[in-house]
Amino acid sequence: MELYKENQLKVYNSLTKKKEVFKTITDGYVGMYVCGPTVYSNAHLGNVRTFMFFDVVYRYLLHLGYKVRYVRNITDAGHLENDADEGEDRIANKARLEQIEPMEVVQRYTVDFHDVLKNYNFLPPSIEPTATGHIVEQIEMIKEIMEKGFAYEVNGSVYFDVLAYNKKENYGILSGRKVEDLIHNTRSLDGQSDKKNPQDFALWKKADDRHIMRWPSPWSDGFPGWHLECSVMSKKYLGESFDIHGGGMDLKFPHHECEIAQSKTCSGVTPVNYWMHTNMLLLNSQKMAKSTGNFILPNEILSGENSILPKPFSASVVRFFNMQANYRSILDFSGDALEASEKGHAKLMEALRFLETVAPGKSSTFDVQKWRKDCYAAMNDDFNTPILIAHLFEAVKVINLIKEQQASLTNDDLSALKKTMNGFVFDVLGLMNEDSQNNSEKITGVIELLIKLRKEARENKDWALSDQIRDELIALGIQLKDGREGTTFSIH
Ligand code: AMP
Ligand code: ZN
Repeated sequence: MELYKENQLKVYNSLTKKKEVFKTITDGYVGMYVCGPTVYSNAHLGNVRTFMFFDVVYRYLLHLGYKVRYVRNITDAGHLENDADEGEDRIANKARLEQIEPMEVVQRYTVDFHDVLKNYNFLPPSIEPTATGHIVEQIEMIKEIMEKGFAYEVNGSVYFDVLAYNKKENYGILSGRKVEDLIHNTRSLDGQSDKKNPQDFALWKKADDRHIMRWPSPWSDGFPGWHLECSVMSKKYLGESFDIHGGGMDLKFPHHECEIAQSKTCSGVTPVNYWMHTNMLLLNSQKMAKSTGNFILPNEILSGENSILPKPFSASVVRFFNMQANYRSILDFSGDALEASEKGHAKLMEALRFLETVAPGKSSTFDVQKWRKDCYAAMNDDFNTPILIAHLFEAVKVINLIKEQQASLTNDDLSALKKTMNGFVFDVLGLMNEDSQNNSEKITGVIELLIKLRKEARENKDWALSDQIRDELIALGIQLKDGREGTTFSIH
């Protein structure tokens, strides 16, 4: 039986502000959409916190036996600098500053994003669609919204009519904002805008002469508005209604509010059953953000090339650090916090390595089944990774007692403990046992040392020693090959 049938997962739904029992639209299948990065600069660690949490959600759903279609887009067009839909497209801005094509900007930072994800052991999503690859569908959705009477064209740009929508539906259903307040809070556009009302948002913008990223449309040569791509791509790949939509809290308004308005206008149905939002990663007590320069890049943490941390840290330690906090709490990033995580991570990995060598005992001094249930209960309670980690450390304590011969586990309990520990640590949390990587580096170093000693023995015509080194390595499954460039080795 699939694990999801015996686990009642509860998810905090930002839409209802309640923890709800997770019920999928189709039994056994989950459709999940997460807003991806805007590729006009390197993803910083704050962005990675959000993506890493949804990586763990994806991993846990797979672990429970769901078939998951996970869609995470790449925003490679059309983001304007502010909510008023004015200002320059960020990608175009970067291209102008660096004097390169916008698509070069997009390519550079998409490659960088993928490099970070690989280093940090992310599972690739099922589909990673791009905004520029879905311009036709975006134009179609604008037409549909116009036909339904909720959008209007002015001077080649098309705007969503928030007031008209709000008469029929609730604009603010997700963010809790009131349209009346928005009118007062939105800055006056001094007659520079084509919008009927300041709270309307762009579906299509006419490109001015300087704008390079542009596509033909029935209204003008232009580009799609900020929010449209996610409505279009989620519908295309997950349907009009799907299970989970995720992103950082800062996307709740206006981005996700506008997504709901667009999608609901077209389909008439609730587009998303569970909205999930991650809280912000802070640096120096402020939101980590590219725009303020208050950020650290994930790859800079690995290399140690940054001015914030005293030394490099591994990707698995950074993952562990992220997972020690609940995703709905703010998390403060600092060198001290990472060093504390590094110690905890080392303890966990050491215990896991020792666990592989433990022999079963006649009786068990620890209730493995109850502990296993507690681990699942933590994750079933809205993916509570810090509580899960606390339970994993209960097992670490038992493993260390076994080491001191003060505890024991029967064969069945030992296998259950191993399976559960490895399942949660490696499959669900996505941590990596980097010491086994370090060990392979050490083995390489030792073999290279033996190759050097063998070379010296041969230079001294000590054939007995050189043969002994070669033969004993062969006995261990390590083959030396002498070539023109020197001696290489292979491990069988
Ligand atoms: P962007 O590329 O700006 O669209 O951001 C990609 C994702 O990162 C979005 O889901 C944002 O909400 C999220 N994000 C941005 N800054 C932070 C932060 N400091 N902490 C956590 N998530 C963030
Ligand atoms: Zn989005």
